[in-house]
Amino acid sequence: MDKKDRFFNERNGADALSCFLIGAAFFLVILFLIAQWNYLTLIALIPIGFAIFRILSKNLERREKENEAFVRFFRSLSGRCRLTRDRVRDRKTHVYFRCGCCERWIRVERGQGEVEVTCPGCHTVSRLDTGSPKTEKDEAEEPETARRG
Ligand SMILES: [Zn+2]
Repeated sequence: MDKKDRFFNERNGADALSCFLIGAAFFLVILFLIAQWNYLTLIALIPIGFAIFRILSKNLERREKENEAFVRFFRSLSGRCRLTRDRVRDRKTHVYFRCGCCERWIRVERGQGEVEVTCPGCHTVSRLDTGSPKTEKDEAEEPETARRG
């Protein structure tokens, strides 16, 4: 084993959090240069410094915990973004509600009146009002309100 191998062998190395920090630093540099806040590009040194510290750190246990927490947070954030996007997209056609037992989000088609819904996660049955079914009058009025709105 040569000197270089020995140096990197017991270090944490690049993980998801370190890569994210470096990416964030590049993003900040580009943003501040576009905005012509050139002196603020020094702020990008903070995430780069933290990334270098993490990559070279020998405290593997602690770095792994930080990385796991970051990955968990990132996953929940991206899941929440996806849910919000779907709820906005489906707002006219579907009702979203949370299972009272396991808190899982469930999507049900609108306009079916009161229905019984079985949670796919924990199989708890809940009653849900999905709104009254559309009448022919509602259908006829819809284009009118769309034009006004
Ligand atoms: Zn459930």
